Amino acid sequence: MSRSKTASRASRPLPGPPLTKGRVGWGLLLPLLLLPGCRTRSQNAPAAPPPAARSAFSGDVAYGMLQAQCELGPRPPQSPAHERCKALILRNLKPYVDVTVTQPFTFRDDARHVTLALTNILGIINPQAKRKVMLFTHWDTRPTADQELDAADKKKPIVGADDGASGTAVLLELAHVFHQKRPDVCVELLFVDGEDWGPGEDKMYLGAIHFAQNPGPYRPEYAILLDMIGDKDLDIHREVTSQGLHPELNDRVWNAAAALGYGAQFPNDTKWQISDDHDSFNRAGIPAIDLIDFDYPYWHTLQDTADKCSPQSLKAVGDVMAQVVYDER
Ligand SMILES: [Zn+2]
Repeated sequence: MSRSKTASRASRPLPGPPLTKGRVGWGLLLPLLLLPGCRTRSQNAPAAPPPAARSAFSGDVAYGMLQAQCELGPRPPQSPAHERCKALILRNLKPYVDVTVTQPFTFRDDARHVTLALTNILGIINPQAKRKVMLFTHWDTRPTADQELDAADKKKPIVGADDGASGTAVLLELAHVFHQKRPDVCVELLFVDGEDWGPGEDKMYLGAIHFAQNPGPYRPEYAILLDMIGDKDLDIHREVTSQGLHPELNDRVWNAAAALGYGAQFPNDTKWQISDDHDSFNRAGIPAIDLIDFDYPYWHTLQDTADKCSPQSLKAVGDVMAQVVYDER
């Protein structure tokens, strides 16, 4: 994931003050308070329905998957831990999906004088179904802690508990959930490589670009990207590009979150524009949205470790994704 808080980069905040939960609340209440004699909503309206039933997604199992990745150490391309992480994903994916596909490819980085060996991994549930939807995430981690202040620290690789391991952990546990209770549609779980190689955006999003340009028979109707969704203090706002291009798909996610009682983790406003793997998909004509908590203080630092993430956050995202998929017919 790449972002910038300045307007000089591709990613920038929306102009004007962001909506806050407080403002949304007052906006709804004020007309009622100003009408004398009018019955309030609470007197008139039926009691709010209880939250919809949540899925069998285990936050603890998912968090265990996050920890297992972190225990391998930083997992940038070219590292032994990168190879071990690929094996970990395949080992935990294969028993729960109908088909596993790997998509190996290479990327030449002339500045570093290396040719990266990269692999996208795809797990497919219900491959015979007519409709095909995709959930995706990146599984590699950043080779450089760019956001550290110390020059020596900046050169070190990050563990990427949130930035890499969290989305991967949720997709692996979702494979388990969909194995236990089958959705009606085909679900593709895609783990893309080389998202965070960098340092610049000309050397990022490598796996997403490769898949988007070579989807073969695996091209989905739409794709939902999970990136940095494990933060203990989870706040997933609607992302600007996603909201601009596919507001109806965003609506389905935020409606599911509200129905499941996850409104606090999914504040229903639009806040940041983020350059990420969804852009390559959208450019290739595959509708894609990005679910990302971009207020994570440990982004691209050596502090992006498992203790900053929580099973509860992983479960919130897993339940919402399961609901969106089960709602498909
Ligand atoms: Zn990153």
